[in-house]
Amino acid sequence: MLDRTSNQPVLPPEIARRRTFAIISHPDAGKTTLTEKFLLFGGAIQMAGQVRAKGEARRTRSDFMQMEKDRGISVSASAMSFDYRDFRFNLVDTPGHSDFSEDTYRTLTAVDAAIMVIDGAKGVESQTRKLFEVCRLRDLPILTFCNKMDRESRDTFEIIDEIQENLAIDVTPASWPIGVGRDFVGCYDMLRDRLELMDRADRNRVAESIKIEGLDDPKLAEHVPAHLLDQLKEEVEMARELLPPFEAQAFLDGTLTPIWFGSAINSFGVKELMDGIGEFGPQPQVTSAEPRQIAPDETKVSGFVFKVQANMDPKHRDRVAFVRLSSGHFNRGMKLTHVRSKKPMAISSPVLFLASDRELAEEAWAGDIIGIPNHGQLRIGDTLTEGEALRVTGIPSFAPELLQNCRAGDPMKAKHLDKALMQFAEEGAAKVFKPMLGSGFIVGVVGQLQFEVLASRIEMEYGLPVRFEPSQFTSARWVSGPKDKVEKFVSSNKGHIAHDNDGDIVYMTRLQWDIDRIERDHPDLKLTATKEMM
Ligand code: GDP
Repeated sequence: MLDRTSNQPVLPPEIARRRTFAIISHPDAGKTTLTEKFLLFGGAIQMAGQVRAKGEARRTRSDFMQMEKDRGISVSASAMSFDYRDFRFNLVDTPGHSDFSEDTYRTLTAVDAAIMVIDGAKGVESQTRKLFEVCRLRDLPILTFCNKMDRESRDTFEIIDEIQENLAIDVTPASWPIGVGRDFVGCYDMLRDRLELMDRADRNRVAESIKIEGLDDPKLAEHVPAHLLDQLKEEVEMARELLPPFEAQAFLDGTLTPIWFGSAINSFGVKELMDGIGEFGPQPQVTSAEPRQIAPDETKVSGFVFKVQANMDPKHRDRVAFVRLSSGHFNRGMKLTHVRSKKPMAISSPVLFLASDRELAEEAWAGDIIGIPNHGQLRIGDTLTEGEALRVTGIPSFAPELLQNCRAGDPMKAKHLDKALMQFAEEGAAKVFKPMLGSGFIVGVVGQLQFEVLASRIEMEYGLPVRFEPSQFTSARWVSGPKDKVEKFVSSNKGHIAHDNDGDIVYMTRLQWDIDRIERDHPDLKLTATKEMM
């Protein structure tokens, strides 16, 4: 059954009130500031400034390491739950650095929607576009927040045009800015005919909201200077004529994005955006799985691991698997089946991430993100169910774009290197390949910075200095096909073959030409740059 206003299925109230989303943006557009205001209005923090440290920490590499060292911060920021009005928001953090695109991709498999933050002066920037493309692969609904309207910004129509053209998505204004830069006084709420006025004196105060009866209401003139009012009327009229109206289905399909204008630092426009997520949704969606999809309102609990974080507590080598619940009502202590190993797991100390704190999750519902401490059984892509052999699909692993040899600085400790690298491979932080011939490992990552982060973590967490050196290979492809054909191929190409951390066969080369040739000469074999995590 569909709800008539939202076009979404009618779900049990606890599930229907959940909103699980991520914020995507180019660095500096204001993601951290907006997150902070969400937490403030969600009652999860008392004062602005508490998550500030994280935003600043990201700026330089050494600070990034510091942040990584301080696992507490980065972990509680990985998923944050808080209530807003009648809604439960689960905000999942996407890693900020462009080097971590694979991690970001997987994070986005765990959410139902994304908020795209853009800087009103800069418009759509490179990282925004990349992240947007990832959202598009999954047709995620997108809400847009155009930030920093308190500064000189571009013309409103120009910003909207740029999004429409650059990202090929329809844009509908949910609010319309009045004045720019120093003249910016607030927004006209296009959906509710309200005037929202910004308070420049107090950054943490919510805007004053004045109910008016459309653009001809004489009350408008009491609050908006005459020259801005004329411009507002003209622009809104044009916008209503030229731009599409809000339409729930188009939004849910990911073909139409509503845009709000505001200033995160001044807390302006933030509540309207939160209202938008609450009212437009989407509520928890169906999860793709094999052999069948999983609907959120199924009574049986199921979920999947989209992220693993190790060594959160340096004293214990524990790790936390982040699980997005796909269906049902979870209670602490429940026994779930770990589908890959077919083994039962008692989930006795699941964690919920309530912004500033971690706390035991007594219960959770479809849409929620819980953390499950474990000793390495849970891997990215794993599915948990109440027994049915379902496997969540669509969580890929990408072939690394950079390969390097990794050697222990101290040969006596080479064995520990094996363990350390396996751990990072399971976290999804790197691909680790063991060549058939020769010693050592080849490590693959998507961005150069990751080698440095890895070296520093291996030294810090395992007391093991390591060296990364150029490899003779530059590309890796997973090999699949009929067993005998694969075996034959492997035995005649040993110098190019390695096994990844799951034992799967990988062909490595420095020439694209090699890959093309193999595909031509061995039509039965498949060389692929992605593999489904399972
Ligand atoms: P992030 O890199 O996307 O997380 O961006 P931050 O939230 O760290 O913001 C980047 C910079 O922009 C910081 O110096 C913020 O204080 C500033 N900033 C954020 N929101 C606004 C805003 O609405 N107006 C202005 N003028 N500056 C802002």
